[in-house]
Amino acid sequence: MKFGSKLIHNGHEIDKTTGALSIPIYQASTYSQDVFTPQEFDYSRSGNPTRKALEETIAILEGGKKGYAFASGMAATSSALSIFSAGDHIIVCEDVYGGTYRIATTFFQRFNLEVTFVDASDLDNIKNNIKKNTRAIFLETPSNPLLKITDIKGAVKVAKGNGLLVLIDNTFMSPYLQRPLELGCDIVIHSATKFIGGHSDVVAGLVVVKDEVLAKRIYSVQNGFGAILGPQDSWLLLRGLKTLKVRVDYQQQNAIKLSDWLNRNPNVSRVYYPGLVGHPGREINKGQADGPGAVLSFEAKDEETARRFMKKVKLAAVAVSLGGVETIVSYPVKMSHAAIPKDQRERLGIKDNLIRVSAGLEDSDDLIEDFERALMEE
Ligand SMILES: *Cc1c(COP(=O)(O)O)cnc(C)c1O
Repeated sequence: MKFGSKLIHNGHEIDKTTGALSIPIYQASTYSQDVFTPQEFDYSRSGNPTRKALEETIAILEGGKKGYAFASGMAATSSALSIFSAGDHIIVCEDVYGGTYRIATTFFQRFNLEVTFVDASDLDNIKNNIKKNTRAIFLETPSNPLLKITDIKGAVKVAKGNGLLVLIDNTFMSPYLQRPLELGCDIVIHSATKFIGGHSDVVAGLVVVKDEVLAKRIYSVQNGFGAILGPQDSWLLLRGLKTLKVRVDYQQQNAIKLSDWLNRNPNVSRVYYPGLVGHPGREINKGQADGPGAVLSFEAKDEETARRFMKKVKLAAVAVSLGGVETIVSYPVKMSHAAIPKDQRERLGIKDNLIRVSAGLEDSDDLIEDFERALMEE
């Protein structure tokens, strides 16, 4: 079955007890037990039928063995990193999500998890930083906000040659466009708050693993640490997933049109989008993903133009987050990346004139009109 059909037919399209075409929200914390016979559900931190339906669905969609749902993308990332031990070393791509950077450099430091940040778009940087205690590589591709591409298969080859696990944050692509387990990765992480939920109304995270051994390790953290997703939010993700393909197809079309239009606009000096000819990772992305996605960034011709754009843009929402039905624009230096010191930000290429766009489901003509007006000099 093809991906679009799997979104609708994955074993959870019909409730087995009533025939309802929607999985019920099992709003229960505990379950009546026959003490002497083991049963599947006994307490909802350990397992809940609505959450289970979601976890099995995402495992199918990512082509993995098991899926796990968490209270947020960061809960998913933190729980996945919690399978490592004090003294272990992990190589992380340097333009990883800000929240991941923060817990890796603060929280996990207190437990002696060693981390090295590298520009993973050059595989030599990964190779050159492998040490005796290196256990894993943590990737994110395309990266945020510059849409840099890491060669997943290449990184997997380096990792496997050195006995390392590969963890990857697949939030920007969603399983519709990129399935890293099929490319050899071991653990896929999602902020389901973004494309999977898709409607800017739920905060959630997902982890999918490729085998039983990793499944046990993640489950022990999920059940033990307990950062689980509740049944209502699990249901919202099940609902969101059904339209993932049509949403991402349309949003991607809008991103392609916007990137093309921005690329020709005299008030814009540079556009970052894996779909554009000339984007450094374009060919690699084509080889590992089924499309360039719905997120792009651009540099206005100067800081003043960027600030004016952020003030004047009307149809697009000014917000952090991405992947929702509405077009969202953000200004990284004042929003998502404000906590990073200016010199380090500039070293990463995140300049004062950079704007990130998550294309939504509006009519592209209206978006272009909105952007045109917002970029124009007074
Ligand atoms: C938003 C995001 C996260 C964090 O997810 P939350 O649901 O906000 O906790 C992690 N990675 C990426 C790429 C993100 O965009």
